[in-house]
Amino acid sequence: MLSTMRKVCSTSARSLRPVVSSTSILTRNAHQAKAQAPSTSASSGDDLKLVNGSVLKNPRTEYKMVRHYQGKVKGVILDWAGTVLDCGVYSPAVVFLEVFKTEGVPITMEEAREPMGAHKKVHIRKITQMETVRRRWFEKFGRFANEEDVERMFTNFVPLQIGCLLDYTQMITGAVDTANFLRHNMGLKIGSTTGFTTPMVDVLKKAAAKEGYVPDVYVAADEVPQARPYPYMVWLNAIRLDVNPIEAIVKVDDTADGVKEGTSAGCWSVGLAKTGNYVALNEEEIAALSVEDYERKLKRSYDILANAGAHYVIDTINELPPVIEDINRRLAAGEKP
Ligand SMILES: [Mg+2]
Repeated sequence: MLSTMRKVCSTSARSLRPVVSSTSILTRNAHQAKAQAPSTSASSGDDLKLVNGSVLKNPRTEYKMVRHYQGKVKGVILDWAGTVLDCGVYSPAVVFLEVFKTEGVPITMEEAREPMGAHKKVHIRKITQMETVRRRWFEKFGRFANEEDVERMFTNFVPLQIGCLLDYTQMITGAVDTANFLRHNMGLKIGSTTGFTTPMVDVLKKAAAKEGYVPDVYVAADEVPQARPYPYMVWLNAIRLDVNPIEAIVKVDDTADGVKEGTSAGCWSVGLAKTGNYVALNEEEIAALSVEDYERKLKRSYDILANAGAHYVIDTINELPPVIEDINRRLAAGEKP
């Protein structure tokens, strides 16, 4: 009994020994090994096996410092369609309908919109992977859609999209004034990300500039290894804007993948429910809705964006300034996104 207790005590004493002793032993062993035997690759390998997790702890300090950014928001990254222009995100949706109709496999507006936010080629691939579309494709061709089909449809998509983009460049009411307020009154830099590719962004930025909206930087979906929901477009914005740390950035978007782009980048992520892909109506159509339809559609949109992980969901870009103020308060309190 006594010997068992001694054994337990000595084991527990050993486990409570300061980390320093174990590290010292390791150091001494390494020195001894050097002194006793000429260094060979084999003996170096043996020494390395002695290393255990204890060396990862600093044995000579009792505290470790945790770094917190407590400054303010420095930059916002705004999506394009459904965020600053094209309320209801009609421009890509109608082209997806057209591209699948040309293939002889028409899709519904809901199917066309579901993967919205992704790179447009990824979007086409995701539509072909939907169970309903797969079934209709099989009924038509006796096989499922393959990558060759996706490539062909994307090739068809590009000129159609560029051709009709200008029809859907109307700025969302208040977006230009809000962007100006963010820049001039709140001192923020303005970046942009999108599921559109560079030639499409070129069309959008010229049209938006005529209306007075000019972000500081542009990043298109084809400029990064993978677009949304991956973080690369946000990080490329941070570099081009020369803004850090990532906690000082707020990403704003109307789609779930756009919200995830922000959270996966490590910044604050804000969803816009009313003007985007899930209410899926332009401003005149929204104004004509019954109260019941409006509330139902808006609540569904809020749910989708909140479930995607948004830190905030608001109706439109025009409610962004108070959100920035609240994020500033949370940052000052030591909170991270
Ligand atoms: Mg959008």
